[in-house]
Amino acid sequence: MGSAISALMAYEYGLDFTLLFADTLIEDEDLYRFCDDIERVTETKIVRLVDGRTPWDVYVDKRWIGNTKTAHCSTELKTIPVRKWLDENALPDEPLVLGMDWSEMDRIERAGGNWSPRPVVSLLNEFRVLRPEYDGILKRFGIKKPRLYDQGYSHNNCSGFCCKAGLGQFKRLYRNSPDVYKYHEEQMELAMAKIGPTAKPFLRKTDFGLTYYLTLKEYRLMLEAEQEGEIDDGAEGCGCFTDD
Ligand code: SF4
Repeated sequence: MGSAISALMAYEYGLDFTLLFADTLIEDEDLYRFCDDIERVTETKIVRLVDGRTPWDVYVDKRWIGNTKTAHCSTELKTIPVRKWLDENALPDEPLVLGMDWSEMDRIERAGGNWSPRPVVSLLNEFRVLRPEYDGILKRFGIKKPRLYDQGYSHNNCSGFCCKAGLGQFKRLYRNSPDVYKYHEEQMELAMAKIGPTAKPFLRKTDFGLTYYLTLKEYRLMLEAEQEGEIDDGAEGCGCFTDD
């Protein structure tokens, strides 16, 4: 949403801008509706960058399932295509605008180092737009908020899936979108079979000081047997794209 609000600010203040969308091919269908709305309002066609692989294809190619520390899905499907597009289409000193605000200054600074010498800019900071204002800005432009936010997700990435997310986010995914969860459960089983014995799932759970890894299938079985409140919610993902 921060990226979309940045696009609306750029349009409202008459800046010269290009909109980029790196598609992982497992995005929520409502994200495409949202992109269409942003295109219509800003009168700007979004440049869609598509590698052609999903995150699961990347995990199998790299023989390593992404996790909190190594999200090569983000590197391969977002950072590399965006960097390539910028190298071919933008001058070296033209800034990359990221949709983060003052509450994510650490990420803006990290991104600045990672994208150097290209400047990284936060329009949300420059125009002093705060997160509680996002809903009102979208309403002013007649755009409906992407539905994943209403379901409690803090990001609108990969339909609520993320290899960097913890138990809480996957519990939400299982409850809100069992079909999406089932897809990822099946993809994880396939990827682990293809990668072989070195494959490790990304979900971690700690009981009595002991940390162990869970597949999405194992976690679903726990959720099916869960008494309300029995499973600790854990962390939400993700620092996708900007942390690379
Ligand atoms: S949202 Fe998560 S799974 Fe999707 S590309 Fe980003 S890091 Fe990978």
